[in-house]
Amino acid sequence: MPDAKAKFLDPVQYIKGVGPKRAEVLKTVGVETAIDLLRYFPRRWIDRSNITPFSDLKEGDQVSAVGRVATHGILRGRRNVFEVLLSDGKDYLTLTWFKGHRFLKNRFKRDDLIAVSGTVTHFNGPQIVHPEFEFLASEDDTDALIHSGRIIPLYHTTAELKTVGLESRRFRQIIKTALDIYAPSIDDYLPDQLLKDNRLLPLKDALIGIHFPENQKQLTMARERLIFDEMFLLELKLAISRQTLKKDRKPHSYSAPSRLLTDFYKSLPFTLTKDQNKAIAQILEDMQRSSPMHRLLMGDVGSGKTIVALASMIFAVENGLQAAIMVPTELLAEQHDRTISGMTKKLGIKTELLTGSVSDKRSRCERIASGKVDIVTGTHALFSEGIEFKNLALAVIDEQHRFGVNQRLRFKRKGRHADLLVMTATPIPRSLALTAYGDLDLTVIRNLPPGRKPVTTAWRTEDNKSKAYEFIRSECEKGRQAFVVFPLVEDSEKMDLQSAVTAYENLRDNIFPELRIGLIHGRMSAEERDRISKGFRDGAFDILVTTTVIEVGIDIPNASVMLIENAERFGLSQLHQLRGRIGRGPEKSYCILISSADPSETAVERLSAIVSSSNGFDIAETDLRLRGPGEFLGSRQHGLPEFKLADIVRDSAILEVARKCAFDIVSKKTKLTTEEIKKLRDEAVSLYGRSSLFLTSG
Ligand code: ADP
Ligand code: MG
Repeated sequence: MPDAKAKFLDPVQYIKGVGPKRAEVLKTVGVETAIDLLRYFPRRWIDRSNITPFSDLKEGDQVSAVGRVATHGILRGRRNVFEVLLSDGKDYLTLTWFKGHRFLKNRFKRDDLIAVSGTVTHFNGPQIVHPEFEFLASEDDTDALIHSGRIIPLYHTTAELKTVGLESRRFRQIIKTALDIYAPSIDDYLPDQLLKDNRLLPLKDALIGIHFPENQKQLTMARERLIFDEMFLLELKLAISRQTLKKDRKPHSYSAPSRLLTDFYKSLPFTLTKDQNKAIAQILEDMQRSSPMHRLLMGDVGSGKTIVALASMIFAVENGLQAAIMVPTELLAEQHDRTISGMTKKLGIKTELLTGSVSDKRSRCERIASGKVDIVTGTHALFSEGIEFKNLALAVIDEQHRFGVNQRLRFKRKGRHADLLVMTATPIPRSLALTAYGDLDLTVIRNLPPGRKPVTTAWRTEDNKSKAYEFIRSECEKGRQAFVVFPLVEDSEKMDLQSAVTAYENLRDNIFPELRIGLIHGRMSAEERDRISKGFRDGAFDILVTTTVIEVGIDIPNASVMLIENAERFGLSQLHQLRGRIGRGPEKSYCILISSADPSETAVERLSAIVSSSNGFDIAETDLRLRGPGEFLGSRQHGLPEFKLADIVRDSAILEVARKCAFDIVSKKTKLTTEEIKKLRDEAVSLYGRSSLFLTSG
């Protein structure tokens, strides 16, 4: 069917029941063509064979129920309450709204059949407050066939859609019409063998099944196929982009590791762990290849990623090339520079620090451009206009999630096809590594260096704070040091800063008058922060009060206690990061989380997770589950598409399969016919543009 494809691009307006007015509004939800409409998937389904009778509604249950309107109206005497009384023939269910009366008032008629869902409470019988609701057609309606099947699709309908009559019921009608016209000519773009091997429904059946499933099994199969598609097409793009990168050729080359690296290993005050050695081996192997490395190194806080990066940088230096490491803050840049220069000076390696605030930036830049410097540590300054390297061959990015995609790219482009090593501050769940960072090779450091004592973590409420203070006092009397951390959230930065300063003064003047207390916060100058943290490191203070700037900061082995105020306001990974600052010395360490007496439900989950686990990989999984991928990755560009149906956490098994299929096709491990390649490529091009043309046959 030559023009079947073109037909799917028919404007949606010409489908019976749509018309120009509705078509205009459909645009607002991204539906412009026939195929868009078929891909306007239901948001939920109500299975009528699985409806809870009103008599079985229990407090706290999440339910779907169906009934007819018995009465409705604004409650007399309780001016602001709108209620609808539903009957299922035997019992009653009350629906209650505290707002939106004007909108609701004229919507319900006696005997309307509606489906509702929400959480059941009890107030003179079962009640659902602010339910989701949906008008159903009566059984004797002309379109009974589509509306009274056992499983009813419910569509996302905005207020605007509703004003032109586009409620779920209408969607069911027009989608049914569209399926009748177009479904017969839907041609699957996935190869038959792939469908068979992975037990996937053909696209046509999946599109019918997602809208009008005959039973639960069909719905499940349809969803699986469409979820597979979303993930497969993403992975196909990643596989192609990786293959494209591998076509580049580095201008420089490497000889096998030799003296400088051996001397470096010998100079270390500890032996590397097995995982560190393995990571270095993988990276050095990449560096010796002719195409540039793109590798993500991930490991828990304190797992020793810096040394791994440093060994790789020394390998570059050994081959007469330059290396640079970029970090998100000046504090961290200074610390890394100290560590790196301290460890490499005796090897004759020249290092340089480059941040926005160094005073002699010009001369530093000159040294870098002329090749007098081997290893550069810096902040965003590293990729600014005026910076040039003589021969940057290895670009390392620490705490990569703090940089945007473009920033990473601009840094890498300071070299010619430089090798790229990106490192994470905390582990990223595998499902995210395969999607958001799916075009990178992955190295994981699983184990911490030996001798780390796990930090004991306790969670207390505000009213127990004085006990926590006493504990801090007793530790300090033994010569230890403590952190007290306050949240500093961007939206309420000013207030947070204020309260941290006030709390600091209170600790200093009233609670610990006999101890020495320092304060660090993000509004201080870099020098001031550095002066205080150095003071703390050298024992000039017993307690350091900070906002979250220590998150990516100081290494102070003598600090054995951390008290985190308003712990419910921190993210899970952030708490884990913070806690990673203690437990670095020989003494047993303690982390005390202080929260209000009544934190939110997810805050309780976060705090319980941090108390019960010290494993960054487990914590990252929980964090991802609680916050979702977008939040987890942060507000910066992360390149992860919005899936309609797929959820990378819930559907991680499908993700693994989809990735393997895509990568096998691109690497030609899976052999396809020219025709099959063409169909796949057309689909990819329509989604991602011409860059997908790399998917070649032959
Ligand atoms: P992260 O992975 O969080 O960046 P770092 O690289 O800062 O961790 O290392 C944390 C600490 O562990 C540093 O003080 C470092 O010197 C130390 N360290 C690294 N590797 C080892 C090892 N193999 N044995 C003992 N200590 C190590
Ligand atoms: Mg680090």
